[in-house]
Order: sequence, then structure tokens, then C-alpha cells
Amino acid sequence: MSADFPRTREALSAETLEHLLSLERAFARKEPIALAERGGPDRGARPDFDVILAGGGLSLVYGAWLARTGLRVAIFDRRKVGCGHREWNISRAELQPLADAALFEKPGDLIDLEYRQGIVRWHGGGTYAVNGVLDCVVNAERLLDALRAQAEAAGATLLDFHALASYSVGDGGVLVQLHHEGATVELSGRLLLDGLGAASPHAAFDLCCPTVGGVLSGLATGGANDEVDPALGEILVTTEDVEDGRQHIWEGFPGAHGRFTAYLFYYVEPARLPEHPLLELYERFFATRPRYKRGDATMEKPTYGFIPAYTRLRPMPASPRDRVLLVGDAAGRHSPLTFCGFGSMIRSFLPVARALVERLSTDRLDHRSLAAAWDEPPGLQVMGGLTLMMVPGRGNGRAPDDINHLLDAAFASLAEMGNEVYAAFVRDQIGFRDFITFMRKTAARRPTIYDEVFAVMSRGEIAKWSWRLARLGMTQWKSG
Ligand SMILES: Cc1cc2nc3c(=O)[nH]c(=O)nc-3n(C[C@H](O)[C@H](O)[C@H](O)COP(=O)(O)OP(=O)(O)OC[C@H]3O[C@@H](n4cnc5c(N)ncnc54)[C@H](O)[C@@H]3O)c2cc1C
Repeated sequence: MSADFPRTREALSAETLEHLLSLERAFARKEPIALAERGGPDRGARPDFDVILAGGGLSLVYGAWLARTGLRVAIFDRRKVGCGHREWNISRAELQPLADAALFEKPGDLIDLEYRQGIVRWHGGGTYAVNGVLDCVVNAERLLDALRAQAEAAGATLLDFHALASYSVGDGGVLVQLHHEGATVELSGRLLLDGLGAASPHAAFDLCCPTVGGVLSGLATGGANDEVDPALGEILVTTEDVEDGRQHIWEGFPGAHGRFTAYLFYYVEPARLPEHPLLELYERFFATRPRYKRGDATMEKPTYGFIPAYTRLRPMPASPRDRVLLVGDAAGRHSPLTFCGFGSMIRSFLPVARALVERLSTDRLDHRSLAAAWDEPPGLQVMGGLTLMMVPGRGNGRAPDDINHLLDAAFASLAEMGNEVYAAFVRDQIGFRDFITFMRKTAARRPTIYDEVFAVMSRGEIAKWSWRLARLGMTQWKSG
């Protein structure tokens, strides 16, 4: 470790520090996964599995569902399948796809805690409450344990502690090579689902959020901003302007037994990441956490990682190969603003999984047919311009408080438009008309907004964003 990070070393175990370093190395692509263009099973081969799921994180929901449809499924992970969870939140209604998929009879049983409402608060600006989004804490362990058990009961092959080394695609399937305890293990499948999250070789994101934090105990409770209100989820909160060249943002939500999960993150272009993004951010987390929530906190469980984000102003990640489909964070179909990958996964997995069953039954596993399994939520098509504003380093000469002022204007407009629109925005589901009203209202509050947004975008990005906005308008106009 080139720097010292004294607070982080004191608060985290040696094992966690080692895992943090390995994540940083993997993210910087110092341990690339080899991909061969050809060399997989030939036409007419009978692969061992219909579907191989690479990565048993949240994408396990695909593995469990596909196995239950009777497909031959293998799931592998470099850690234990189904253990890589964080603390996740969502709204009650959004859990419905788990019931529709017959994976959970009563998905509400997965909820540990439900808040009165969520808030967004900008330093030097206002606090904007929203109901019905991100207001339920899901018991992630129970969810993943149950998915693992369902996959196993349906006959899926689970391979714990197997790391993807390489894969190659042939006309008859995909051949996957795994490292396991010094040996190489080979699997063949008709289709590979890449659920490797930010570690996927295809996750070519143009923004990312290094995110650190964890479950804390011992924080002061009460109604002040720097105290924990057990009935309030904090979706996005800033406690200062740009410092050290970054706009840091907090997210926090209470858990069971007086605990509180707090995350600190910032938006950055991957090329501008420092050598130790997670360690550096943890050091800041421990130093500045009392600005966010006061009290003598103990770190009960650290959680951290890189969340990929996509402005959609550059090409989206996609497998360049037939027979491979990206899912979850690797596919990046979540908001580049709120990065609610959990909500996005639960909302999207069932239509995609059903489309996969259809593609497998008709043997249409070419790149184009697989990519068409995805349907892009409307809000995602036009959010990128706003997200770019959050990236210090773009748009030289901006004042340190610009990002807070801009976001304050944006969220004041959303709050004014009413809960339905505000909640739809956070869920990536805002429609064209509401988006236009939102832009109009925000511009009335901050007349320089278009100059500011366009100043941080290249001409190509402006053209692409305008085209996406026009296309969204056309699509929604045609569908009435
Ligand atoms: C700290 C943090 C907090 C978050 N909080 C929230 C939240 O509150 N709400 C929300 O909606 N979303 C949240 N997210 C996002 C959410 O967790 C992700 O969107 C979701 O986990 C994505 O699921 P996934 O299956 O695509 O990837 P992951 O859950 O990241 O799983 C990827 C899996 O692939 C495995 N893997 C990686 N490389 C290899 C390899 N070479 N070989 C084998 N296995 C490999 C990993 O071990 C892991 O198990 C958070 C993310 C982070 C990092």
C-alpha cells in the first residue's frame, strides 16, 4: 500500500483491507479476464448446461428462476455463490416481480424495516421528501440464501470459489474456464450470462461511483440533520461543496436494532480514478462521518465496491459476442444518478429472463436477438446530461458550490411536480412530458442551467442527448 490510511487500517480487519485492495486491482484491469473470439464448442455439440451464470451476486435471481423453468443451469462465483450482498433498499410495490416470478410467495416478508419517507438534501439548499421509493430495507442475506436454496433445489450446479479465467465462443456454445484451488475447471453451456458486476470484462462504463461505508451502531438518534431518525431514509445528502476536487455524497438508512447503514460516494470518470480509490474514500469516510451523523460509531459490517454508471452518451456496454448476455451491474441498466442497481435488477429481471427462455427454445442466441431482450426504461435515456454535471473536473472554472446549487434546483422542481413524478424520476421511469416540465421548471429556478450542462458536454454528447430526447418524445407520442 503506497499511502498510509491510518483511520482505515484501524477500523477494518486485515482480511477486509486485502479484499479492498483486490477489488481495486481488479477494477483497474490489472487482472484481465482472457476472452477468445473462437474456440468454443462447435455446431452440433451438446454443451453440459443450457445457461452458465457467471457471478452469484444479486444476479442469482436469474439463476434461480431459470433453473426452476427446468433449464440446466450452472452458477459460479469467485466467492461463495449468494454471499456478495450489501444492504439494499427498495419500495414495497417494487418487490412484486419476485411474487410474479413465483420465487417468493410474500416478498414483503423480506422487508426488515419500512420508513415513513425518503429525503434528498443538498448542502446550502433544501430538503426534499419523497414517498414510496427506497423506503424499505430488504434483508439481503435472507433474499440471497433463499435464491441459492431455490436454485439448488431446482437442480442447478453451484460452484463456490471458482473464478472466471477465460471464455471462448463457438457455433455450438460457450466454453468457460475457471480457476479453483490451483486447478482449471471447464464448463460448456449454450448461453453465458455475465453477472460479474463491475468486474465484468464487458462493463465498459463511462462513469463510476467508488462507494464505501457499512453498517454502524452507536450514532446519535433524534430529529436533527446530523442525527439518525429511525423513520427516515436518506437517499442523497451532501454535507459540503466540492472538496479535494470531488463532490462527495452520502446515502444512509436506518436498520434493525438501532443500526444505520451509511455510504459515501462520488462520481468520477474511470480514467481519473486515483491509485487507491476505495482506501482513500474510506479514510475520508472515517474522518468526515461526524459531519453527516454524530456519535461514537462502531463499524459493524463494512460494505464497499465500485458501482458502474453510464451516461448513455457513449456506447452502452454489450457483449460483442453471440451466446453471451450481460445482466445486472455489468449491463448497467440502472440510473446513473441514483445508481439503484438493486431496484433496477428486481424491476427488470423477469421480462429479460422470460425472453431468454424464448431465445433458448428457438435457438436464437445471436448477439442481436439477445440484446433485444432488454427494454430500456424511459428516464434512463435522458438522465446522462444531469449526471455529467456531478463530475468535477469537467467544465473547468466551476465554483465549488455549483453542483449543490444545480441539484437543489433540480430536486426543488421535482418536489414541486408532486410525489408521483418525483418517485418516477428516482425509479428511472419519468416520461417525456414530465421530463420536459422538469427541465422547464429547473431552468426557471436556475436560468444558466443549459449553459452549465452544455459546457460540460462535448458536441457529440450534446447531439446524442438531443437525439435521445427526441426519440423518447416520438416513442411516447406514438404510444399515446
Ligand atoms: C457499497 C454498495 C452499496 C450499494 N447500495 C445499494 C442500495 O442501497 N440500493 C440499490 O438499489 N443498489 C445498491 N448498490 C448496487 C447493487 O448492490 C448492485 O447494483 C447489485 O449488487 C448488482 O448485482 P450484480 O449481480 O450485477 O453484481 P454483484 O452483486 O456485484 O455481483 C457480482 C458477483 O460476481 C462475482 N465475481 C466478480 N468477478 C468474478 C470472477 N472473475 N469470477 C467469478 N466471480 C466473480 C463477485 O464475487 C460477485 O459475487 C450498492 C452497491 C455497492 C457497491
